[in-house]
Amino acid sequence: MKHYWNKKTAIVTGAASGIGAATAELLARKGMNVVMSDIQTKPLAEAASRLKDEGLNVAHKVCDVSDPDMVEALGLFAENTFGRVHLCFNNAGVAMHGEKMHEMKLPDWRWVNEVNIQSVVHAIHHILPRMIRHGERALFLNTASIGGLQVNPNWLTGAYSMTKFAVVAMSEALENELKSTQVRVAVLCPGAVATNLSNASTRPDRLGGATERPQQDFLREAIARVGVPPAYVAQRIWRAIEDAEFYILTDAAAKVTIETRHRRIEEALSRAAEYSATHINN
Ligand code: NAD
Repeated sequence: MKHYWNKKTAIVTGAASGIGAATAELLARKGMNVVMSDIQTKPLAEAASRLKDEGLNVAHKVCDVSDPDMVEALGLFAENTFGRVHLCFNNAGVAMHGEKMHEMKLPDWRWVNEVNIQSVVHAIHHILPRMIRHGERALFLNTASIGGLQVNPNWLTGAYSMTKFAVVAMSEALENELKSTQVRVAVLCPGAVATNLSNASTRPDRLGGATERPQQDFLREAIARVGVPPAYVAQRIWRAIEDAEFYILTDAAAKVTIETRHRRIEEALSRAAEYSATHINN
């Protein structure tokens, strides 16, 4: 069936594996031109080749999303290869689970900040303005996490959640700021997905190089056990694109934790209202 996104161009970061690979494939099968990008050279080339060999419109470019110059080059590469960018899927990210924040090493803080937060900043700076300028309907889609809406009480996800809260905040702000433009914004907040997220070998040389994070070994086991397949998430994203959803969730497992958080905030609001009623202008 013909749809708006047919023959339009998408950039997908973190496309060598997991959610990015599955979504790049689905978008290509839906008729989009897809620029697949990742920091991992060989897995990226292999993932792209599989789709190119089928005759799908796919190109690939290595990019470390924590490096602003590389993100700028990625945007230019996409335009030079396929023309205007209509969908920018800022999806690359790394885990930082299983460790208390006060025990974390500073290079790990820097790594998770730069890959999970600065990646989106770099796309906002270098790619989004070009999407606004061309004037055609477009989508700026960021991958946060269900950890961007609550802090998992069991998985020691403080640093990771902090970065994903930032991605949700940037997405909410962008949605507001872009209201008068033709660029829509959405934020993907997946629950557990069976991917390679626990892999720590992708830490860029600039940020200390490949590392081990035995603290998150449980994550590998947990997402393999309870995670949904990446292809399910890709289908979920496509449905959300068609329905113009803003918050894209993949399951409701965190419902109680999110409701508890909201209830505590509402209770704090009630206390603040009561306090201000008796202490302001009195
Ligand atoms: P994944 O590890 O399978 O895929 C992530 C990809 O990002 C990898 O191919 C990796 O090489 C790439 N990457 C890492 N650092 C990069 C960098 N500096 N520059 C460019 N590419 C880089 O994991 P995934 O689960 O598919 O992760 C995709 C996104 O989904 C991430 O943002 C992650 O935080 C988020 N997420 C995952 C889950 C889950 O349970 N798997 C849940 C919520 C959110």
